[in-house]
Amino acid sequence: MPLLINLRHLESCPVRLAGRVNVSELDIDPHDEVIRVSQPVEYELEVQSVDNGLLLQGHLHLTLDCQCVRCLKPFPYSLKLDHWACHLPLQGEDAVAVDNDCVDLTPFLREDILLAFPQHPLCNTECRGLPRTLMGNPKKASNADRVGKGLSAWAELNKLKL
Ligand SMILES: [Zn+2]
Repeated sequence: MPLLINLRHLESCPVRLAGRVNVSELDIDPHDEVIRVSQPVEYELEVQSVDNGLLLQGHLHLTLDCQCVRCLKPFPYSLKLDHWACHLPLQGEDAVAVDNDCVDLTPFLREDILLAFPQHPLCNTECRGLPRTLMGNPKKASNADRVGKGLSAWAELNKLKL
């Protein structure tokens, strides 16, 4: 089901809409190899009629399948538009299409969701990318060194006490 709003229902009071728009309806193309859309968009909106137009307010949520651009790991990216608002004119040059008293809101969701896509998806802001092969085994040596120093520090303390 595309996201339709019947203008007649808006005549007396605002209308609340909640549900999901499937991927096929949303018809979104990320134009990006590292982002895939496979899950529906969840929405919760309030639609009210304002001067010669519609005002949409609410939140949109979508989980994207992303691939980290640094380490190439796949990870889910939660895209949330919590205070989404959109004004749609019903008159004038930019007026939205009305079909049988209904307006399809799907294209406007699609547009703003695309704008909110991550530019360079990262599994973690601190991601350092692909692990490099360690040269030799410097970690073990430094640990042993630390233990050695630790022991001597205790020895020093003992000397002070005496
Ligand atoms: Zn990563």
